Order: sequence, then C-alpha cells, then structure tokens
Amino acid sequence: MPRYFTGKPCRCGHIAERRVSHGECVECHYRRRLAWRAANPERERKHQLAWRAANPEKAREYRRRWRAANKDKRAGHEERLTKRAAAQLRRDRINKRQAAAQRKAARAASELNAGIAGASEGNHQI
Ligand SMILES: [Zn+2]
Repeated sequence: MPRYFTGKPCRCGHIAERRVSHGECVECHYRRRLAWRAANPERERKHQLAWRAANPEKAREYRRRWRAANKDKRAGHEERLTKRAAAQLRRDRINKRQAAAQRKAARAASELNAGIAGASEGNHQI
C-alpha cells in the first residue's frame, strides 16, 4: 500500500503516514476500520472470509506474520482453548455417563418387558 509522510498532523491530530489512495492517515484509517468492525461483526467476518478465499497466499503470509508477532497472545489463546476443550471433555464424559445409564435402564426395562411378554405369551400357549 503506497504511503507518504508529511510530518503534519491529520484532522484528528495524528502525526502519522497518509495513504496515497485517500489521504487519510494510517492511524485514522485503522481506528475507522476498528470502529466499523465493532459495528459490523458479521459483515467483517464475511468480508474476511471472502478476502481469504480470494488471496489464499497473502492470507497464509499474514497468518504466519501474525503468529510470529503474537507468540505470547497465541500462548494465552491456546491455554484458553485448552480450558474450553477440557470443559467440553468434562461435558462429554458426563453425557457419556448419562447415556450409558440410560442405555442400562432401557436394557433393563426391555428385558423386563420381554420377560412379561414371554410370561404372558407362555400363559396364552398353555
Ligand atoms: Zn489521523
């Protein structure tokens, strides 16, 4: 992205590089994008997905650079993921236990029913 630097503050008072395309300073542009993103999370997500689909090489490169620049954040992120994964695992285990208990109860009930059915059938045959 072509930029230039005037050394003069922009209309918001930032002394930062300006973008050649619209003359907006990079700080203003960044803030405007952040505000837009916060106001349009769905559109931002779609926009990003579309951009990534259209620029897979660049997307990979950005991801790689972001990972390199945010190793600490990433570590925190993974820790959070692990906690969430652990919580999911706990839920799964509880669900599995409940399912097993239900299956056991169902089996016992069906055996009981079979027993009753068998007994009544037996009664009919006699
Ligand atoms: Zn500015």
